[in-house]
Amino acid sequence: MKHSITLIPGDGIGPEITRAMVKVVEATGIDIKWDIVNAGAEVYEKEGTVLPESVINSLKKNRVGIKGPITTPVGVGFRSVNVAMRKLFNLYACVRPCKSYLGIKSRYSGIDLVIIRENTEDLYSGIEFEKGKVETEELISFIKEKKDLEIRSDSGISIKTISVSASEDIIRFAFEYARKNNRKKVTGVHKANIMKYSDGLFLEVFKKIASEYDDIESEDRIIDNMCMQLVQKPELYDVMVLPNLYGDIISDLAAGLIGGLGVAPGENIGKDIALFEPTHGSAPKYKGQNKVNPTAIMLSAVLMLKYIGEEEHADLLENAIAENIREGKYVTYDLKPDRNDPTAVGTDEFADAIAEKIKKART
Ligand code: NAD
Repeated sequence: MKHSITLIPGDGIGPEITRAMVKVVEATGIDIKWDIVNAGAEVYEKEGTVLPESVINSLKKNRVGIKGPITTPVGVGFRSVNVAMRKLFNLYACVRPCKSYLGIKSRYSGIDLVIIRENTEDLYSGIEFEKGKVETEELISFIKEKKDLEIRSDSGISIKTISVSASEDIIRFAFEYARKNNRKKVTGVHKANIMKYSDGLFLEVFKKIASEYDDIESEDRIIDNMCMQLVQKPELYDVMVLPNLYGDIISDLAAGLIGGLGVAPGENIGKDIALFEPTHGSAPKYKGQNKVNPTAIMLSAVLMLKYIGEEEHADLLENAIAENIREGKYVTYDLKPDRNDPTAVGTDEFADAIAEKIKKART
């Protein structure tokens, strides 16, 4: 086999959309050995861990993986397995291209944005102090003593950290991405006017690195203004680079501009490991119904094929997905003008229609 790739089906709708994705990727004729391992809530029930060694070893060996969404149960004693994987493999860059495809309902057309989100720090560092704990009271006293600032005694505290090194990595990644993909502009997003030592630092690094890339235009925007600008005039933007939390929120906003989570792909990139996944979650209420739209994971596979240097297979797949959606006949309920349209097809049939188009294009 030419490529060995880790495949993590995930929870909820994960297994059905990954099955659909495998079908269309294989239709391109590419030589892939899928190394199937699983992580997540369902694995936790059987094995007592959400992230088994088999997953870690497989990704370390193959260096490239694609995954379905994983459920993060609320109130159970583990944090998101997605966050854990990003940290463990230092998948520091989350790239979410948001591009309009004809045939997908949206208030907007012609959107072509790339959101580059820092994946390892910020408010996702996991430094949390629970309300009422002794350590939390100690922290509150420490802040009172050192900064003469009052924090209410009934507070919970989450700490935001932004480092020069991680900011340099993600911002450089964004400019290199822009250069490699013939993009014109990178916008750095922050709230430096309020958080001077964290977002202020991010902005300072952004300006320094931007000055090294004469060929790429650069600008910065405050996050609240950025939200309004994206809703009012998204055509003014190109590549955006953001700290973790703003990146998370703007990724969903941008997914909304192109027609929703069902069609938004993503990739998590480290220095030598990459993990591809849809932006959406495990939509547990649709589990096992052969109903949901597998486009986001299929487009994530397009990104993966490009990453492993298989441009031709990537183009073949992307064109077939785009054509099937444009024609609008064999599409899932969410892509029909009326969500109750009885002619909507299931996840499997959607994949069959795309696989058929790929086969035709290859003959
Ligand atoms: P979700 O994305 O699973 O679902 C939100 C809604 O979006 C669904 O009710 C559904 O209407 C729609 N939707 C999502 N994917 C769709 C698809 N492929 N086709 C058609 N419609 C689709 O978000 P949620 O309900 O907030 O989260 C459910 C679980 O997923 C949670 O446990 C959450 O932690 C997890 N999650 C995982 C990831 C990941 O693995 N990367 C990302 C986000 C959320």
